[in-house]
Amino acid sequence: MTAHVPTMFLAIILVGGVLSLSVGVVADRSQRDGMPYWAVGLMLHSVAYILFSQRGQTADFASIVVANSLIACALATFTEGLYVFYRCKPSRWLIWLPIGLVFFSFMALLDQLGLRIIVGSTVFVAQCLLILHFMWGKRLQTAGRGKYFLAGGVIVMTAMLMVRVFGAASGATSSMLSLKDSNLIQTLTFLGALVALLLLSFGFVLMSKERSDQLNQVLATSDELTGLANRRRLNEVLVVETARAQRSGHALGLAMIDIDQFKDYNDHYGHQAGDDCLKQVALAIAGAAQRAGDLAARYGGEEFVLILPDADANAARRVAEGLRQSIEALALHHVRSPSGRVTISIGVAALASGGPTDPESLLHAADTALYRAKNEGRNQVQVAPDASGAAAESAPVSTKLVQLVWRTAFESGNPVIDTQHRALFADANKLLGAMLEDQQKDVVAALVEAFIADVVQHFREEEAIITRAGFPGAAGHASLHQALIEKASTLASHFRAGNLSIGEMFEYLAHDVVARHMLIVDHEFFPYLRART
Ligand code: GH3
Ligand code: MG
Ligand code: MG
Repeated sequence: MTAHVPTMFLAIILVGGVLSLSVGVVADRSQRDGMPYWAVGLMLHSVAYILFSQRGQTADFASIVVANSLIACALATFTEGLYVFYRCKPSRWLIWLPIGLVFFSFMALLDQLGLRIIVGSTVFVAQCLLILHFMWGKRLQTAGRGKYFLAGGVIVMTAMLMVRVFGAASGATSSMLSLKDSNLIQTLTFLGALVALLLLSFGFVLMSKERSDQLNQVLATSDELTGLANRRRLNEVLVVETARAQRSGHALGLAMIDIDQFKDYNDHYGHQAGDDCLKQVALAIAGAAQRAGDLAARYGGEEFVLILPDADANAARRVAEGLRQSIEALALHHVRSPSGRVTISIGVAALASGGPTDPESLLHAADTALYRAKNEGRNQVQVAPDASGAAAESAPVSTKLVQLVWRTAFESGNPVIDTQHRALFADANKLLGAMLEDQQKDVVAALVEAFIADVVQHFREEEAIITRAGFPGAAGHASLHQALIEKASTLASHFRAGNLSIGEMFEYLAHDVVARHMLIVDHEFFPYLRART
């Protein structure tokens, strides 16, 4: 089978030109992925083939010496692009020396076709091997399949060049090697060049895309300030680990960590210092996630979570206690804290039959334990009671019944939302009052209903306001509302039926809905409201 050589030239020129323009258009200098080099290399390759196609019609210097030097130049440019992609310092002389070699040897061998092919192809093979050697050294740094396409392209090109070297070395006639004749060696050579061109370009673009995907994945799952896993990743891992633990019967511990009196820290040292402090605490928390499956995440604000697979409550408590001590040992000054340094409080919980069995209740149990750690003086670890009530003695229900006090820091900047948030604080306190006065169940039940009705009304209005304000997470926030309302209704019916204590009902409404959702989760959209006022 032989192909028409001029037609193949045209195909290579056109394919190279189109690929060069396409790669050039998508190249983004700021990405530092080497694509501009690749675009230039492809264009040089096409120009070389334009000159090859002019063999006999133009000076040999252009169609032989310059054209082959351009091929060497294209390969050197591809190599530079790869060094940029891998953010490596290129070994310049290794990359660019071959061009000089090709230029001068072709000048010297203008009249010796066979020798010229052996020398030229050997230099090109050396350039290909340099690329392969470099990529082999970097193979562990790139995920994905792009690198295999690229390496495949280089291997095809190397094979095609070897065919020419062996053809010339075994004394193939000049008509077999000459560019103007259509024969088997030429067909293999130029088909190889075309396939290599496609594989190289596709591989390189794919490598760049795979790296962007990887980067996006990291950005989407990590917290910008601290670099720990973000809330989204935490939720994903918690669901997976809970299911795994349930399946295998292994333990799963969780620690919820909160910096003590951090608002005072910000007020005293400024927000920037607050951020630096958060980063240092986050680093220590990451250090506490020592085992392979452990995950350290930022839950929001100055709250963090450690997921500890295979750790029961005791093991998780030991990790938490070690972490608490390591934060204390950092000795970060905090003049408004009783100890004079930054401290943390930690609530620990573990999956247990009869205790927390799903991600939500595990978080909730750890959060309740954290609440207790705060109430009992901060800078300590508290463990959630397990099903047998082992740690329950230290958790009298009354410690959870705290009055909610409005602070200016809770203000969102939107008068409607702030008025409603205040009203819900008042509802919570009214309910607390009724409980402490031991009011009749009907009276308390009516207050619970009114509370929930106010929450529903508030959520609807808040959703409209944040949507108008352009908060991108509005839809997600609305589904959080929906989930909170559904759980509130379920708990209320359990309460009415006598299956839930008023303490638990109150705790859900005051803590999960008001304190946790309105004061922490709602913070996400405050900047959007402030931007409009
Ligand atoms: P407690 O001991 O009861 O936990 O008191 P606290 O002051 O730590 O708790 P509170 O919830 O009242 O305050 C949390 C503060 O955390 C409020 C907010 O200014 C601060 N904060 C939340 N996120 C960030 C952040 O990203 N950077 C900074 N600098 N501060 C933050
Ligand atoms: Mg705090
Ligand atoms: Mg809300």
